[in-house]
Amino acid sequence: MRILVTGAAGFIGSHLSTRLLERGDEVLGYDNVNDYYDPTLKEARLARLQAHEGFRFVRAALEDREAMDAAFRDFKPDRVVNLAAQAGVRYSLENPQAYIDSNVVGFVNILEACRHHAVEHLVYASSSSVYGANVKLPFSVEDNVDHPVSLYAATKKSNELMAHTYSHLFGLPTTGLRFFTVYGPWGRPDMALFLFTRNILAGKPIDVFNHGHHRRDFTYIDDIVEGIVRTLDHVPRADPDYDFAHATPAASAAPYRLYNIGSNRPIELMRYIELIEENLGRKAERRLLPLQPGDVPESHADVQALQSDVGYAPETPVEEGIRRFVAWYRDYYGA
Ligand code: NAD
Repeated sequence: MRILVTGAAGFIGSHLSTRLLERGDEVLGYDNVNDYYDPTLKEARLARLQAHEGFRFVRAALEDREAMDAAFRDFKPDRVVNLAAQAGVRYSLENPQAYIDSNVVGFVNILEACRHHAVEHLVYASSSSVYGANVKLPFSVEDNVDHPVSLYAATKKSNELMAHTYSHLFGLPTTGLRFFTVYGPWGRPDMALFLFTRNILAGKPIDVFNHGHHRRDFTYIDDIVEGIVRTLDHVPRADPDYDFAHATPAASAAPYRLYNIGSNRPIELMRYIELIEENLGRKAERRLLPLQPGDVPESHADVQALQSDVGYAPETPVEEGIRRFVAWYRDYYGA
């Protein structure tokens, strides 16, 4: 298949692209390689992708309608995975505009391009952050998520709403995946595992928010990639009698799906830190800080729907996942 992957220079996008290329798909990566974090890491991920014959790349922003139209026209993707976005909860307090540009304007452009180029299936990244301060655990896609506690979460929720309208009005098959704290080799420098590893090795203190009382459903990258690929292959079908123009949303049988994708095995942040320490053979100096605005104290994914619809079964224990991350980090940075 021909698959357009936005955010291909990013953490999840580069792993997904590798996996698709290895199974014989042609991949067009689309990414503006922005400097939200160290672009040399993104360039290094891209260099690895460029070693594959079936990989092509367009360096452009989601907001650039012309570049996007040209990419869709030239490549003619069968399916699209939209992973490009302004990620990060805390940064959305500092730079809200970046979230509107990439996650709202950019996302509408993707929907429009998929619609006009008759794409068979759009899979896009949502986030566990949409659950906000929900206290009912585990989090289920049936839960009410109308009270996002960060602009990042609000933009991700808006993606789900907009995807529904495109599925409903135009019959565009869409599937949203709410990712739960993804980690692993080639991971993001703004996320806890990377920051903790870097600081512990440098003998610097680590900032432990919520006084270490966070619990997170940390999910290993290979499990996420497996889930995305299975989802991509499972195209939602509309009810043949569905009247796109006139059905009311309450009666929606549009080709629209939404799933959680997590490990379903949440652990305490303190345990996560201990595992990093064990792998590094060094102790962290912990600086205990309060819960940060926009942060959620706990996450736990109910993944039953993805399990029964596509056979998703996350299998990497966090002990193994952290071991692989630390091995990669030491090798990549010579640390
Ligand atoms: P990432 O930042 O490593 O990757 C995103 C990529 O998109 C980057 O390479 C960036 O250059 C590119 N990009 C950003 N804005 C763009 C724009 N306007 N136009 C073109 N390219 C743009 O992040 P990631 O961790 O790989 O996350 C991928 C997706 O998954 C994002 O949508 C993110 O919000 C979502 N997500 C990630 C996690 C996680 O734990 N990593 C959790 C929940 C949701």
